[in-house]
This record gives sequence, C-alpha cells and structure tokens, in this order.
Amino acid sequence: MSGEAVLLRGGRVVDPSRNLDQTLDVLLKDGVIAKVDEKIAAKGAEVVEAAGFVVAPGFVDLHTHLREPGFEYKETIASGTRAAAAGGFTTVCAMANTDPVPDDAPTVAFIVRRARETGVVRVFPIGAVSKGLKGVELSEIGSMKAEGIVAISDDGKPIANGNLMRRALEYASMFSLPVVVHEEDPSIVGAGVMNEGWASTRLGLAGWPNVGESAMVARDVQLAALTGARLHIAHVSTRESLEAIRAARRLGVPVTCEVTPHHLLLTDEDVARSGYDTRFKMNPPLRSEADRAALVAALVEGTIDCVATDHAPHHEDEKNVEFADAPFGVTGLETALPALVDGLLAPRAITLLRLVEVLSTAPARAFALPYGTLAEGAPADVVLFSTTKSTPVTPDGFQSRSKNSPWIARTLKGRVEKTWVAGREVYARGSGPAR
Ligand SMILES: [Zn+2]
Repeated sequence: MSGEAVLLRGGRVVDPSRNLDQTLDVLLKDGVIAKVDEKIAAKGAEVVEAAGFVVAPGFVDLHTHLREPGFEYKETIASGTRAAAAGGFTTVCAMANTDPVPDDAPTVAFIVRRARETGVVRVFPIGAVSKGLKGVELSEIGSMKAEGIVAISDDGKPIANGNLMRRALEYASMFSLPVVVHEEDPSIVGAGVMNEGWASTRLGLAGWPNVGESAMVARDVQLAALTGARLHIAHVSTRESLEAIRAARRLGVPVTCEVTPHHLLLTDEDVARSGYDTRFKMNPPLRSEADRAALVAALVEGTIDCVATDHAPHHEDEKNVEFADAPFGVTGLETALPALVDGLLAPRAITLLRLVEVLSTAPARAFALPYGTLAEGAPADVVLFSTTKSTPVTPDGFQSRSKNSPWIARTLKGRVEKTWVAGREVYARGSGPAR
C-alpha cells in the first residue's frame, strides 16, 4: 500500500473528531490521511470524484459476532469482514462466544492471526470474562491483553454472579480494559422470547420485561462505582436502563453504552406485524415505541455514546423454526448505515455530524482505539457514502454468509459506495467481493 495515493475530490467531509463538516479534498497516502484541504494537487494519485457524497472516518463496530472459530457455517472472519467493509466499517471488535471461547492467550492469538490472514478490515478480539463463558471462573485477562484484546465480555450471556462481576471489573481495570456487559437477569427474564407487553400477550409468546435488563444495569453501574473500572453496556434497549446510566454519570461513574440500529428503528409491534418472523427475534428484544423513542433521544443528546451493530449471523435452517425455538440475533453490518440514514437522518431526527460520530469517532473513543478521525497522520480508514441514493436489501445482496436481517425486502435510503482501510480500497459498490 505504501506509495499508492488516492485523492477524494470535492466530497462533503464530515469529521466529528474536529467538528468538521465542509466540502474538501482528502489525500490518502502511505496508509495515512496525508492531507485534508480545499484544493489538493496530487500528481499520480488515483482520483475519486466525491462530489455529492459524504467522506467520513471509517465506522468502528464495538459489537460484531464473527463466528470463527467454531461456527464457520454462519460466518467466517473472511466473510464477516467483507460484510463490514460493505457496510463502511473499517474496524470490528469480535465477540467471544466462539468455539473455542477466547479465554486464554493461544485462542486470542489464533483469532488475531486468522484476521491478519483472511480479514479485509481491522479486527480486535474481545476476550471472555469467564472461562468457557460459564460465569464461574475468570479467564486469563492479562495474558489475553498481551495478545491484543481490547475489552472483555461474556456477551450472549449475562454475568449473573455479582461477585464474579465485581472481580472482573477489578481485574479489567488493572489492565485498563473495559468490561462489556450483556444485561439480562436470567431469574427475571426466564423463558422470555420477545418484549413483555401487549404485543407478547396478543401473540401468546413469553415476555422478557424491561426490568430484566435495567436491574442488571443498576447493579453493574454500582459495581463500577465501587471498583472505579470502565463499564460498557451493550445494546441498551429500555428507558429504565437509560435512567440508571444517567444516574451513574451524575455520580461520575465511568460508563459508556451502545445501541443497535434495530432497537432505534423497530418495536415489538414490528414483531407482531411480521407474523412471528424470526428475523425480528433478538436479545434484548425489540421494545415498545416509548422505549424506541427514548433511545433515539438518548443517542441524539449523548446519554448513549454510540451505535453498535450486534451483527449476529445465523444459518437459515436455524432461524427457519418456530419463533420460540429460534436463536436470538440478526445481521447488521451491511445495513447499519442505510437503516440509520433512512430512519433517522432523512426524517431529520439526527444530524449528519452526530450520525458519523456515533458510528466512528465515539466507538473508537469508548475503546481507546486510534481511529474515527480524518486528522492528518491518522490511519487512512475512510468511508464514502451517499445520503440520497438507496439500498435495496435483498438476500443475494449480502457479503455475510447469513441473511437473517429484519430489513430484507425494504429499500433504505443511504448507500455505502467505497471503503478504505489504511489507504487500501477494501470495498467498492458493484464490483463484487473486495478480494
Ligand atoms: Zn448481547
């Protein structure tokens, strides 16, 4: 990549790290942002006409399930990172619920090596909090950090044991790692498969109530206050959780949190309208309209730091069963930008600057990653997208091995055109797989 130069000419450059939203040229050279200025003359550079498009720092997903090792029939690091590139993501953090579980240094090292060999975007592993995700014994946090983990999480499973959670926070803070929590009190949630409310009653499905999440959020922000450790709450979905996070912030507790595009844009009434369609089954479940509206407001105002996809590929056969029996989770890398442009930006619920911030600058900051900026000298991780062109979401349109998306058959405004990682093009719309 060294020596190759790309000039993005006349795009709308949106860089939240510097509060910048202006028509400019951007020069990528030697893997970094070489220059951002009004008119750049770059002899020999490949020129990309960016007029009419947005040029932004590549998106950073703190919550991706790549499924490798162990579940390659759902996704691999190769297919998952191609999906990421197609969605404008240049960095993904890979969740630990693989087989084997990354709970020690060799497994983390394996993922790092596979990512280097087969990945097209940057991959940072998240180590397990507990050995085998069993919630009993802490994993080898220090040795995993030495191999490159950026956080620890048992995501997919809650840490039901409060004492283990406390010890995880204590150890993680010794290594300056955030603890990412999937907040679900199993004794409250029980067999719940969708949000507890009028829709679940009508559909005759077991309910998963808001308090099943918020009770755990309240516990964990108090444990974070006690330990001084960094807590990151995954996929916030309820009003009560937001209140607990606001209270924690007032007390100075170091907590960050994320929300998914599906929780921002869909509700339990969409589950009802879908007719028990398992592409609308996720954990936490799609909530009420009041929750959804509160999540949007919290994202706009900053109580919620960032958007994460919780990209959770599942094979068609696994999802093609009764709603109650299907696995939780939906894919999300390739639809995040269009879903948010269509659902929030186009109706002017969010500004373009804030939209880019919640997808790139803010998640990078939450995990202290050196991305999410177009500052000169920064890694040349860049996305070029349109806010006016549309993306038809079809099963054959995905780079991901799985197609369990709630947006299938929808046409969403917003379209990712090109993606670069370290100045190298890893995705161009319409030109097939990046390699
Ligand atoms: Zn989760």
